[in-house]
Amino acid sequence: MTSTIISILWVLGMIGVYLIRRPHQKRARNQNIKDHQRSTAERTVLALATVGLVVIPAINIAFKTFRFADYPFNPLLSSIGIIILIAFLWLFHISHRQLGKNWSITLEIREKHKLVTDGLYKYIRHPMYSALWLWAVSQAFLFNNWITGFSGLVGVAILYFSRVSKEEAMMRQTFGKEYDDYCVKTGRIFPKL
Ligand code: SAH
Repeated sequence: MTSTIISILWVLGMIGVYLIRRPHQKRARNQNIKDHQRSTAERTVLALATVGLVVIPAINIAFKTFRFADYPFNPLLSSIGIIILIAFLWLFHISHRQLGKNWSITLEIREKHKLVTDGLYKYIRHPMYSALWLWAVSQAFLFNNWITGFSGLVGVAILYFSRVSKEEAMMRQTFGKEYDDYCVKTGRIFPKL
């Protein structure tokens, strides 16, 4: 395992992200929206997460911009990163499929929104955000660089902590007691013991 192979596998992973999301994004464009919280703050946070997870690693792979922040390459750590990246892609794919027509990139409620409580959603309320955390953790293992390794974690932390309570408040407002009961049975990003 060399750092060049790691960079190639990371690029393949990013193509995977694009391919998983594309059909959902296409379908989302044709759905009627009942309520949304699309604000500049919301878009900024999404952009910051994208910068941390995609733009910074891509710039470093292409131009070695952050070479000054390199530390010695460790093939074992990077191999663990690949395993986590694969786990992320699996969770990302399954959560998109299970959320189906109810998925949206920003916080939205559809005309015929249905509260999904089966599949992974039976155990956790935010499997897609669990996937995003895995993505960021995989990045920290993959890259032997303090900036590209940790920019994903910063981006996901900003997105997650600024969004999750707002999203839950929106779901509570829409589904009332059904959502309260659902919260009792589920954890946010880890299943409840
Ligand atoms: N937080 C979820 C979904 C992220 S997509 C996860 O991590 O898996 C964001 C959109 O999903 C929100 O706009 C919200 O309307 C919708 N959503 C979140 N949880 C949902 C659920 N259990 N059932 C249906 N829609 C849900």
